[in-house]
Amino acid sequence: MKKSAWRITPLSGGWFSIDGGTFFGIVPKKIWRNVLPPDGENLVRVPCRVLLARRKDDVVLFDTGYGGKERPKHLRGYALEEGNPIFASLAQVGVRPEQVTHVVMTHLHFDHAGGATLTEENGAPVPAFPNALCWASEVEWSDALDPEPALRGAYPQENLLPLAERNLSRAFENGEEILPGLTAYVTGGHTRGHAVFRLAAETGPVYIVGELAPTGWHTKQLWSTACDIDQMAGRRVKPEILARALGESAPIFPAHDPRGAAFRLTERRGDDFLSEVLF
Ligand SMILES: [Zn+2]
Repeated sequence: MKKSAWRITPLSGGWFSIDGGTFFGIVPKKIWRNVLPPDGENLVRVPCRVLLARRKDDVVLFDTGYGGKERPKHLRGYALEEGNPIFASLAQVGVRPEQVTHVVMTHLHFDHAGGATLTEENGAPVPAFPNALCWASEVEWSDALDPEPALRGAYPQENLLPLAERNLSRAFENGEEILPGLTAYVTGGHTRGHAVFRLAAETGPVYIVGELAPTGWHTKQLWSTACDIDQMAGRRVKPEILARALGESAPIFPAHDPRGAAFRLTERRGDDFLSEVLF
């Protein structure tokens, strides 16, 4: 075990319900319903996975889930959990929000970044982790803070402005080592600025793949959510990233797999990869 390596703990950032067709994109229902059966409303229930990584004085969260701010009307259909799931998860492992030093985002959609802010008693949104720098790719921050009209619904400003206004927002570039043993790769695909991360964990390298492969089923090239704004970017880069992970025998951590937090890639078939649940 390397002294300088990261100790990782998977956490829940809350579960939500989403239309199965949205979640599996172009994959025909007669195929996806066999791996994740929908309910009577065609909804599938999936988690927002968060990874806690600790090393020396650094306490890092990868994504935050959707948090506990008051829920706007358009989010009610997601059947979000009550309360603040990421705070509850951190409490279970004895970490206080003030102890978090970095929040590292795959992208800034509400189900990943909503938990980085909370609502004060007077109703104003404030940073949930007051001592943490909040990292996302440069492109993601610019799309999120100054969205084109067609992207506005994807980036509720109350999730993001409190961070930018207090100078807690930080941007990384493709290939940048944010902290020792933590490297960001900007992939695009799901959002223009979506990123994945390679982390040197105690047990060896791991890849936090976010929405590039939101579940272990989505390790096949054409399996992506219908929300991906650039399907072709995702198709190009996914096999590259997964080939790297497979080559390093590195587990992947997808954003939304109901079966578990970590997956082992077992085999490459063309540009598709097979995976199995690790834990
Ligand atoms: Zn998501």
